Amino acid sequence: MTIKKLLIANRGEIAVRIIRAAKELGIQTVQVYSEADTESLAVKLADEAICIGGPMANQSYLCGDEVIQAAKQSGADAIHPGYGFLSENARFSDDVRNAGIIFVGPSGKTMTKMADKARARETAISAGVPVVPGSAPSDNPESALEQAKRIGFPVMIKASAGGGGRGIRVIEDEKEFLSQYYQASAEAQSAFGDGTLYLEKFIRRSRHVEVQILADGENAVHLYERECSLQRRRQKVWEEAPCAVLPDSVREAMCQSAVSLAKSVNYKGAGTVEFLYDDESESFFFIEMNTRIQVEHPITEAITGIDLIREMIHIAAGRSIAFKQKDIQRRGHAIEIRLNAEDPFNGFLPFPGVINSFTPPMGSGVRFDGLIYSGFAIPPYYDSLLGKLIVWDENRESAIYRMARALDELSIEGVKTTQPLFQRLCKAPDVIGGNFHTAWLEQWLETLDTSKPEEQPDSKKDNSLTIAS
Ligand code: ADP
Ligand code: ADP
Ligand code: MG
Repeated sequence: MTIKKLLIANRGEIAVRIIRAAKELGIQTVQVYSEADTESLAVKLADEAICIGGPMANQSYLCGDEVIQAAKQSGADAIHPGYGFLSENARFSDDVRNAGIIFVGPSGKTMTKMADKARARETAISAGVPVVPGSAPSDNPESALEQAKRIGFPVMIKASAGGGGRGIRVIEDEKEFLSQYYQASAEAQSAFGDGTLYLEKFIRRSRHVEVQILADGENAVHLYERECSLQRRRQKVWEEAPCAVLPDSVREAMCQSAVSLAKSVNYKGAGTVEFLYDDESESFFFIEMNTRIQVEHPITEAITGIDLIREMIHIAAGRSIAFKQKDIQRRGHAIEIRLNAEDPFNGFLPFPGVINSFTPPMGSGVRFDGLIYSGFAIPPYYDSLLGKLIVWDENRESAIYRMARALDELSIEGVKTTQPLFQRLCKAPDVIGGNFHTAWLEQWLETLDTSKPEEQPDSKKDNSLTIAS
């Protein structure tokens, strides 16, 4: 099979990213868009663009039938779903294939086994991968309470169909369990169209470490791990590769677990196996698998030199993975920050508006994957991600200094962004020392003196700091 024309069923920075990869492969691009995205960078860069509906995602980017229709109309032979929207929708994956079009991602069958979080837990257990102590899904609150007592409080209630940090609650004790369970189920039903819940032991001080894999249906390889513990509302905001505190033996075991899991379902495509890592006991536990490209994929590209979107397209076209595990080397350290149009000093209030001027940072080891340009009006209908700033350097210490330098160079006028927050993070001793867990950032935000939002932190090198490498 060859892919000559690729339709991008997404928007924002990931649409731009996919268009760039396709162009480098000599593949024509078709961008579908909503009425709110007429002036988007992706629409400007694509060879063709087709409007598929209104501004709200359920009028456009979530309309699988409209997307498939646009692919047929334009003669596209493949569809890349990006992340979010239809990317983990098993039915869409099958519908695309049934329409005779290549879906750049796993089959609906594999997705059902892995993208549904409760089922993925069971798949992981069968594959011998350690999971967080927890329960199978249950629609009976009373028996769920019995399970919670067995697991021991605090527990987490998770929606099987949840994602993006949504559909998760922490329950501290037995008293609040039942009422929270009913609420969580109703919320999951309305947010994801599926009220199925399951339980996990709440691990208070853990790190989020995830393994990137690539698989062609026969072979599976890993591209090492990413550390994503700096989160707000369970969404990653700063990611690194590799994880600075992971002993080599644990890294090896974790990466092997991810590969075994992928092989156990004959996985085909790019995927991420997410774990919680307890650095005291040096143990790790599977939490979920994302059967798609992830927001933070560029840091893996930076340390391995492998273009993940290009590989996804090759695999979808039926090629075997061209390299062996031993050929995948990692070098240096990479960091990504998610630049959002939000006011970090006012409760992260979304800040749609017009970008009056935009100057991206440049120079050695710096990459900006974004959707903005000077004069661009940010539509208010979608998430507030403006772009991702990625830096690479020989080691973690230099990468943090490079991030601080790049952030100082970045200039966006017209809207508030999370840039000043990251400038402060680059100077936080715990970040510099690599001493953090998934709850660290929210605790740090509470202690932050936000009375001086205009203060520009001095990012000059301070050689007295010790940076974990
Ligand atoms: P990553 O793990 O790649 O950082 P996230 O889990 O944060 O990805 O999700 C990536 C994007 O997809 C975000 O825009 C997120 O809001 C969206 N997303 C993921 N899963 C869902 C879901 N089940 N429902 C709605 N949005 C989702
Ligand atoms: P999503 O599908 O929304 O990405 P995840 O299951 O991956 O949901 O969890 C999101 C985040 O919530 C994790 O990165 C981690 O910070 C936290 N988390 C998830 N499970 C647990 C747990 N059992 N104990 C403590 N924190 C957890
Ligand atoms: Mg997750």
